[in-house]
Amino acid sequence: MKPLFKGRKVNLATLLTSLVSASVILTLLILTVSSYYSSKNSLATTYLSLNYSKAEKMSHSVDSLFISMRKSLETTVDFLEENEGMSDQEIHENLDLLQRSSGYFNSLSWIDETGVIRAISPNSIGLKGEKIEEGSAKEALDAKQPGLTTPYTGLSNRLIILMSQPLYSKDGTYRGMIGGTIFLQEQNVLNHLLGNDAVEQNGSYYYVVGPAGTLLFHPKSEKIGENVIENPVVRQLTQGKDGMELITNTEGIPMLAAYSNVSEAGWGIVQQTPYSFAEDLLIDQFLQMLKNLLLPSLLLLLFSIFIARRLAAPFTHLGNLVNGLAEGKAVSRPLKDNLMKPHWNREADILTKSVAIAFEILERNNQELTHSALTDALTGLPNRRKLEEVLEGWSSQNRHFSLLILDIDHFKSINDSFGHQMGDQALKGLAETLQTLIRNTDYCFRYGGEEFVLLLPDADRLAAYQVAEKIRKEVEQTLLVPGRIVTVSIGISEFPTQTESLEELFRLADTALYQSKDEGRNRITVSSSGNPS
Ligand code: GH3
Ligand code: MG
Ligand code: MG
Repeated sequence: MKPLFKGRKVNLATLLTSLVSASVILTLLILTVSSYYSSKNSLATTYLSLNYSKAEKMSHSVDSLFISMRKSLETTVDFLEENEGMSDQEIHENLDLLQRSSGYFNSLSWIDETGVIRAISPNSIGLKGEKIEEGSAKEALDAKQPGLTTPYTGLSNRLIILMSQPLYSKDGTYRGMIGGTIFLQEQNVLNHLLGNDAVEQNGSYYYVVGPAGTLLFHPKSEKIGENVIENPVVRQLTQGKDGMELITNTEGIPMLAAYSNVSEAGWGIVQQTPYSFAEDLLIDQFLQMLKNLLLPSLLLLLFSIFIARRLAAPFTHLGNLVNGLAEGKAVSRPLKDNLMKPHWNREADILTKSVAIAFEILERNNQELTHSALTDALTGLPNRRKLEEVLEGWSSQNRHFSLLILDIDHFKSINDSFGHQMGDQALKGLAETLQTLIRNTDYCFRYGGEEFVLLLPDADRLAAYQVAEKIRKEVEQTLLVPGRIVTVSIGISEFPTQTESLEELFRLADTALYQSKDEGRNRITVSSSGNPS
């Protein structure tokens, strides 16, 4: 038989399993990816806020430092103004005292109104008597008011910033300024305040920029003095803004940067964390989450696959069964019993039960059909087809039995005299009589017309003859047709004693029957073939 369905088909179990696996894996994927992105955002926000509060705190510290520095300059200037008569040496000593005691400035100097350095502490700088003619210090001098310069290279060839406080005599004459310097690239009060934990373990660090975007403090001291106005947050700072954002710094590294202004000095502080650190942390978190989710997901997957297979099982079973049926295979009892088992899935339960019922009906119909195909409709006896079936079975087993062919005598005349219907009644009556006279193991067939065949297993010709005689006598005495004695003639042969051929067996019985007829009917003839003569 040709297969009903061509091509490869996906079976339900595989389909369901794939579907379930795909959903579980996809859910896991969506879950991890979405949590990755939400963590990424929250982590970035956290670091930005942390950096901002640190930048703010530091800007306050720097602010108060500046206020103290300014105060100390003001106090010194007040003292000098009150004691106008001090010699240069005395002024030097005063500056020396302040320089050493406060530690705010790397150097303190008095520059008179003409630009000559009249006193400088510490002495070691050696610029006493030098004259300042130009540059930031000169501008501060000429401004005649408190000031703070941007970084510049001073006479000592250092990168410095200068805080200046004007000095007046009591009559209001300008006597120059007291200037305190911070050597940006050397040990100073700023890096003392800021430099302790400039770089954290996670790569976070901060730097300080001046009003024009020049670096005043940076963990990499070689960068101090460099102009970084190109950096977006520095640009914001120079515009007086505070804030936080993800930026790319001047070295091209993405940074989570927060920035805050130092209002007193007009400087800005930037605290930043490399974005890569947050990303590394995120990947760690991501891997941890994946690890945590893996086992439950795997269990869920296995459970889902198990359920999917259980769900598919009855349909697969049914499919195989019906396919087998379509290919003409017999349905075995266990397969059918399996169908009747209740199933927890409603559709599977309904379907399997319905198919089981359909099978039952089909089988019953089939049995009925088979039965009627093998049964004679008038007498209810098995017919000639059944006879052939039984004989084939017995001959293949080489079973010992006797064959009787029985023919009603002058049946034509019964029909003629009493009508066909009465003839039928007689045939039915004879069938009933025959059945009462044989054993359970014997067979009685309607061979055709008014001829019957009997098979008597394990009976030799003699035993068969005795049965036949019983039949003959009984029929003769039975009122099959009212007002008419009906008789039968019988021919007998024996298998395999007389012949091993079924055809020959029939021929022998037939011949014997005709002999009975010839010899006057209502008699029995046993085939003489093989009889000792
Ligand atoms: P003999 O003694 O030589 O057997 O004579 P007979 O009349 O019985 O022989 P024959 O074979 O000539 O006739 C058989 C008759 O049986 C012919 C047919 O009308 C009748 N017959 C066959 N089948 C049926 C049947 O089913 N019902 C009825 N009523 N008659 C049948
Ligand atoms: Mg006949
Ligand atoms: Mg007849």
